[in-house]
Amino acid sequence: MLKALGVGAFWPVPVETAPEEVQAPAVVEPPIPVLEQAPAQVPRVAPAARVPVPLKTPTPAPTAAHVQAPRPQPSNLDWPALTQAIQACQACGLCGQRKQAVVGAGHVQARWMLVGEAPGEQEDIHGEPFVGRAGQLLDRMLQASGLTRADAPPEQQVYIANVIKCRPPGNRNPTPEEVLQCEPYLVRQVQLVQPRLIVAMGRFAAQALLKSSEPIGKLRGRIHDFEGTPVVVTYHPAYLLRNPADKALAWDDWCLAKSWMTKR
Ligand code: URA
Repeated sequence: MLKALGVGAFWPVPVETAPEEVQAPAVVEPPIPVLEQAPAQVPRVAPAARVPVPLKTPTPAPTAAHVQAPRPQPSNLDWPALTQAIQACQACGLCGQRKQAVVGAGHVQARWMLVGEAPGEQEDIHGEPFVGRAGQLLDRMLQASGLTRADAPPEQQVYIANVIKCRPPGNRNPTPEEVLQCEPYLVRQVQLVQPRLIVAMGRFAAQALLKSSEPIGKLRGRIHDFEGTPVVVTYHPAYLLRNPADKALAWDDWCLAKSWMTKR
């Protein structure tokens, strides 16, 4: 399992853009169960290039123009209209610096929906979530859980979205205003996909969905609720690249998610 998560292969890694997480206390981990249905191979949707990633830049203060932009109201939109609205969105200042908005990827009736933070440089280029190194780790975690982002039935193929649809420049954290403006799109995506479980990856996804300011370390390990959909909180893959020792904790989270789903 640890091999599947790349612990051995990825111990000394160059730092990728990574959301800041609060370290969980050190614990002695029980043996990790082997999950069923792991496919032999998981094709990747887009090539993941290794590129140097700049350090995060400070979060800017919102300008008056951005604060005054109306909040998107996509609650009646179907998939094509929602996709168009996200791609044309000008509700915050990120629209001026993106190459393209990243709507999401995967099965639109997936049982599993994964939520990350925001597109990075590679995602901004490719228009697809999680295509960088964090995405490679995510693909391995999916594979080890019997899931995939590639074409598959809705039991196996996940849907992946981000809290923020446009890349924050310099890989900085999204501002609270950006999260607020973008949130209606994520809410609508959840309504359209109607997943049986959401996996919130990282602080921004967890806090946005759960309206909580608690750190990941305090939110993980139990089932939460987002508008009637169960939510499991886990570490962001980019955080795990920087903190490989916490991959064992993340694996516990995936096992919790998997066991919740097999009971349904
Ligand atoms: N990190 C995220 O949170 N989302 C992406 O799409 C890529 C990296």
